[in-house]
Amino acid sequence: MTAEIVYLALGSNLGDRQAHLDSAVSALREIRGLEVLRVSRVVETPALLAHAGASAQPLYLNQVVEASCSLEPDGLLSAVRAIEANEGRVRRERWSSRTLDIDIVLFGERIVDTPELTVPHPEMTRRAFVLGPLRELSPALRHPVNGLSIEALWRALSA
Ligand code: ATP
Ligand code: CA
Ligand code: CA
Repeated sequence: MTAEIVYLALGSNLGDRQAHLDSAVSALREIRGLEVLRVSRVVETPALLAHAGASAQPLYLNQVVEASCSLEPDGLLSAVRAIEANEGRVRRERWSSRTLDIDIVLFGERIVDTPELTVPHPEMTRRAFVLGPLRELSPALRHPVNGLSIEALWRALSA
């Protein structure tokens, strides 16, 4: 089976945020069929206002992980959900504070659109906390749907 390069976006805004990110990366390294290649710097970001609603949320730490993956997308989703659960994430409403969130941002050139999984992640082009760390790792990488480089997407967002 051929491996594909995948990018995962990690976020934490509860508890020992750095420890949650570190445990997530360690756990990702343990997944069979996934080989972590590089990790970005960690950035600190306010919770998205639209998502935080009326109640203020603590700041997030965010990081992007590049890995070589020989699992299918749904297998990768199951694996990252297990890591989230292990890290004490309680599933409440979407966008609430969480100890650990892991989103599949890109899965090679693949386009996935099922009830469980949308890849590329539909919000990635609007999120500086994803594009910033991703640009650090792979500025020339192209978004498989719109064909723009990560660098161009980042510039469009900061303009
Ligand atoms: P957002 O997706 O806007 O960042 P969120 O991360 O807070 O929101 P969650 O509650 O973590 O949302 O996830 C809800 C569901 O989204 C997951 O259980 C999963 O089935 C689905 N999902 C769809 N696309 C993806 C993806 N690319 N990566 C991870 N989960 C996804
Ligand atoms: Ca998310
Ligand atoms: Ca998520």
